[in-house]
Amino acid sequence: MTIVLDVAAAHAARYLESLPNRPIVAAAATSELRRRLGKPLPEDGMAAEVVIDELVRDTEGGILGSGSGRFFGWVIGGTLPVALATDWLTSAWDQNAASNATAPAEAVVEEVCGAWAKELLGIPRSASFAFVTGCQMAHTTALAAARHKLLADRGWNVETSGLSGAPALRILTTENRHESILRSARLLGLGTDAVDYVQSDNMGRMEMGALEAALRRAGDAPIVVCLQAGDLNTGVFDPFERACELSHAAKAWVHIDGAIGLWVAASERHRRLLDGAKSADSWATDAHKWLNVPFDSGLVFVAHAPAHRAAFSQDTSYSIPREGLRNQKDWNPEWSRRGRAFPVYAAMRALGRKGIAEIVERCCVHTGRLVRGIGALKGAELVAAPVINQALVRFMSRDGDHDRFTDEVIRRLQAQGVAWFGGVTWRGMRVMRVSVCNWRTTDEDIDRTIASVEEALGHG
Ligand SMILES: *Cc1c(COP(=O)(O)O)cnc(C)c1O
Repeated sequence: MTIVLDVAAAHAARYLESLPNRPIVAAAATSELRRRLGKPLPEDGMAAEVVIDELVRDTEGGILGSGSGRFFGWVIGGTLPVALATDWLTSAWDQNAASNATAPAEAVVEEVCGAWAKELLGIPRSASFAFVTGCQMAHTTALAAARHKLLADRGWNVETSGLSGAPALRILTTENRHESILRSARLLGLGTDAVDYVQSDNMGRMEMGALEAALRRAGDAPIVVCLQAGDLNTGVFDPFERACELSHAAKAWVHIDGAIGLWVAASERHRRLLDGAKSADSWATDAHKWLNVPFDSGLVFVAHAPAHRAAFSQDTSYSIPREGLRNQKDWNPEWSRRGRAFPVYAAMRALGRKGIAEIVERCCVHTGRLVRGIGALKGAELVAAPVINQALVRFMSRDGDHDRFTDEVIRRLQAQGVAWFGGVTWRGMRVMRVSVCNWRTTDEDIDRTIASVEEALGHG
């Protein structure tokens, strides 16, 4: 038994040691991976160590180096060694973290860590919380609580009566909202037609005059206002204080997508970006991005704990809620689930508030230097300067087709394998998105990346 664990640990250590120098791009073609991995369903089993060895061999070139300190695509984040080690233990313990009875220590770790997270992220102590798979499920959980309360306030029990015949919910947000907000609207039966887009400024912040007008137009309808703390492209924060005032005056529920940006609460330097955010009704964030724990790990907080519980609680004969005990499944969309609070607990203990602030601040400094370095290159243009750790640049072609050239430079960069960026269409133009949220990224990584971009630019 221990042999196979040792074999896996040795492979993992070798992989992590090679990260700084291995190509980031996943060079193996899908057809090649299918050929290697797509064996017939085995009739007879084989030795565990051989399975592990062959898995490592057959996936070679198919593992994207997104854990590298020079991976700046999407918003991925890395894994702290202490969080990885705790994740291994979580699997070894294999607790079903559905309830206090099935995972007593995990339940207590959730209580402790939920309170820590609220303190760290500037969320009221009275808020309820849940450890979910990611920000997508955090939105879904929060919006289910919102749906419950907004409809209960209008005399409608959505948990028993469903949505048909219920007052129609509206969602007010901006064009910059993450796609996951739309999918939560789909999953909750609200539908994407329920979403109204409020005008935003040229960096993506919601315009307060436009919000006021939209709230007025919505009249007595149940409304959720979805704001952002750290936009995916520009990193901007909506004006929470004013937005909460206006929304609450209209009896709307305010939800904040803080997948990235809620973590700046740890930093004295950046905290003011979240001014007023504590007045929201729900908050969603990720631990697998800026806290650098392994996937999948997100957190949701709800200011109205009874609405949160009403949307999820399950009282069964074999898990009768006992006074003073928190059963995880009464707050979570899943039933059987991984004890995913353990790695979050370990990361928070290992880093402390100062360590978390330090990662956030370091990533923001790296982003600034990276974007200034790229922006200074001939043929590069800064499109959105970083507010925190996200920014946009593009590349200008002599033939005037900057969109094509920007995609071409991204392709060249990925092929060089030194650093990794992705492209995105922003305000009608192709741009390269920069996201720095890995604890591993060093000054040297930034220097090597700027040199790689210079090489990729070549001649337009
Ligand atoms: C990543 C992200 C999400 C989705 O989070 P998942 O953890 O992938 O479910 C939502 N909003 C923003 C702003 C994000 O960056």
